[in-house]
Amino acid sequence: MWRPAWLHCGMLAHPVHATLLDQIGNTPLLPLRSIGAELAVPVLVKCEHLNPGGSIKDRIAKAIVADAEERGLLQPGMTIIEATAGNTGIGLALVAAVRGYQLVCVMPEKMSVDKRVALSALGARVIVTPNAPPSSADNFQNVARRMASEQDWFLADQFCNPANVDVHQRETGAEILEALGGRVGAFVAACGTGGTISGVGRALKAACPSARIILADPIGSVLAHWVETGEFGPDGAYEVEGVGSSEPPANLHRAVIDEAVRVSDEESFAMVKRLIREEGLLVGGSAGTNVAAALRVAMRGELEGPVVTVLPDSWDRYRAKPWMQALGV
Ligand code: PMP
Repeated sequence: MWRPAWLHCGMLAHPVHATLLDQIGNTPLLPLRSIGAELAVPVLVKCEHLNPGGSIKDRIAKAIVADAEERGLLQPGMTIIEATAGNTGIGLALVAAVRGYQLVCVMPEKMSVDKRVALSALGARVIVTPNAPPSSADNFQNVARRMASEQDWFLADQFCNPANVDVHQRETGAEILEALGGRVGAFVAACGTGGTISGVGRALKAACPSARIILADPIGSVLAHWVETGEFGPDGAYEVEGVGSSEPPANLHRAVIDEAVRVSDEESFAMVKRLIREEGLLVGGSAGTNVAAALRVAMRGELEGPVVTVLPDSWDRYRAKPWMQALGV
């Protein structure tokens, strides 16, 4: 449906692509050559920051819109609304531009100004809400849900929409398995909506049951405690964006997760600097969280295959943040 009839590129190494959306996914999987040099097993990073919109969320934006179009819920010209930390909004803005939709993004004020500016530049309407908990009517997800029903707009609903988990199972997880011949020691990822860890986790558990699926969680988030006990503890403040939560989202499937590793802001940001300086990987804060946790897992030396993690987004959206400026990169 997204491919014109005249496009017959077959297996050419350098084909003409139907749209920018063809460039989403199939990201490189690389070993950490410097940071991971002394480890018993390699740490491999999937470079999701190299997607066209600069984040892993391009995958779900494309998948959620395609799924809604197939189900007859969305037709070009309509308005899409989403509650977003920014990256899903940027992914949706690309899809909206290519497919002809209007986009409204609801973001909590904690999220970086850079993301707001990028969304406005892409033509989205941005609504900023207070950093309110899920129990509050002002919480960004509640505001998006309310506006969707009042205006009859399509809510992308990344926190609950199963198309999010499905695309990570079918594509992100399948790409990792194919690259490694089905042999993975562990997969480590932080949770924003849970789509990445639940979908990749499902794909890996099905093909390689010994693979350990490990949640990386910012200190202050309740998710590590929830994975371990099934209960919610008190939450606290932290700076890393897009990951961790004060409540588990519906797309976080506890059954596929084996354990959790807690990572401080300091550790995450120090790792971002190392990724930039030692590996040339221009990534954001949650990549630091993921890699810090993945290194700890790889250091244990008990795994039989590599530790895989994702670099969810690019550094360009954090340049105005004090933590990024303090890194001096
Ligand atoms: N890192 C960043 C920067 C994100 O914005 C997100 C998504 N909110 C994630 C990681 C986590 O991805 P997922 O939603 O698939 O759990």
